[in-house]
Amino acid sequence: MSQNQVLFERAQRVIPGGVNSPVRAFRAVGGTPRFITRGEGAYIFDADGKRYVDYIGSWGPMILGHGHPAVLAAVTQAAQEGFSFGAPTEREIELAEEILKLVPSMEQVRLVSSGTEATMSAIRLARGATGRSKFIKFEGCYHGHTDALLVKAGSGLATFGHPTSAGVPAEVAQHTLVLEFNHLAQLEEAFALHGKELACVIIEPIAGNMNFVRTQTAYMKRLRELCTEHGALLVLDEVMTGFRVGLASAQGHYASLIPGFKPDISVFGKVIGGGMPLAAFGASRAIMKHLAPLGGVYQAGTLSGNPVATACGLATLREIQKPGFFESLTAKTRALVDGLAGVAKENGVPFSVDAQGGMFGFFLMDQLPQEYQTVMKTDKERFNRFFHGMLDEGIYLAPALYEAGFVSAAHSDADLNQTLEAARKVLR
Ligand code: PLP
Repeated sequence: MSQNQVLFERAQRVIPGGVNSPVRAFRAVGGTPRFITRGEGAYIFDADGKRYVDYIGSWGPMILGHGHPAVLAAVTQAAQEGFSFGAPTEREIELAEEILKLVPSMEQVRLVSSGTEATMSAIRLARGATGRSKFIKFEGCYHGHTDALLVKAGSGLATFGHPTSAGVPAEVAQHTLVLEFNHLAQLEEAFALHGKELACVIIEPIAGNMNFVRTQTAYMKRLRELCTEHGALLVLDEVMTGFRVGLASAQGHYASLIPGFKPDISVFGKVIGGGMPLAAFGASRAIMKHLAPLGGVYQAGTLSGNPVATACGLATLREIQKPGFFESLTAKTRALVDGLAGVAKENGVPFSVDAQGGMFGFFLMDQLPQEYQTVMKTDKERFNRFFHGMLDEGIYLAPALYEAGFVSAAHSDADLNQTLEAARKVLR
């Protein structure tokens, strides 16, 4: 029996499903999850000592690869100074200043410990600032596991959502309206019906939780207009895209396509923590003043702005601002997805790919889907065979077809070539 199997059996005795976050259990693809012992650059190593080229990167944070020397030094230094004080530190100001410098739509930012906390707090802030309760989210977008966000569409635009998780009271879901991604007519109708009751609309600008689906530019433009017209706040969930698709994040990308575009509230996570528990949400001063201790919207955290996590995040943000960083990362990611598309074509496999900065998605279908229902039409069996074939070849892709992939600065040409060789073998 492999050491991964031994550990998985042991884990299942003491941890539900053997994992601390469901997707790690490999339920979608079957088989035994790999228990990771260490990471180094672009690689992770499992309990059997097998090496994998890592395209998950802790689901996004590890943009520099594992164990980057500058980050390691910053974290080690911070840990020696103290793990947590529950009192303010200068490093929190430094990280806030660094983030604000890179995100012109925000004037202030609050640090928290997870993306879930950040989106939950952003929704509360939007509700507190507008005095309204209802909000819109989109099918296929994931914003963490707070009750009001674990909601699927009701039976029509007049009815609000239903919980997607046991334990979420129907009453909580009743304020969440779930719409189809990129469906303009539906959006117009929803605003016509409920516009004046909406506190906000929350969206993943490039949805990485249904693999990789961009918000169409015209759709984003109209969404911005509708929010402004109706006094609803536009919340961009950049937990995944933030500092991953480019230094200006997805909002900078859309601002380059839609003059004057900016969200009202932004949410960040993953890269800003560099692999440590850290996330953030921010907005204009006028909106952020509603937050405690200034205003009536309560929000807090024992470990918020943690000194070790902020050191990790700061060091990471400084590295990604070095000249040419995103040009190089973008070129690597492009080489990977174009290479994969080429290999698929050689083998007559239906395939489509998209990428932005260091984030990518591929679909075993001819055209890129524009919304969730089409994403879900992917041939799951074929995806699972591809996933396991690649894993056997030492290539670690996300163990579910609705997850995005990530390239890090540590991936070399040799790693990319190994990946394409593996894909050639598996797709054959
Ligand atoms: N928002 C988005 C877009 C995410 O991708 C995720 C997690 O993957 C979250 C929020 C939740 O973040 P966390 O897992 O840190 O709670």
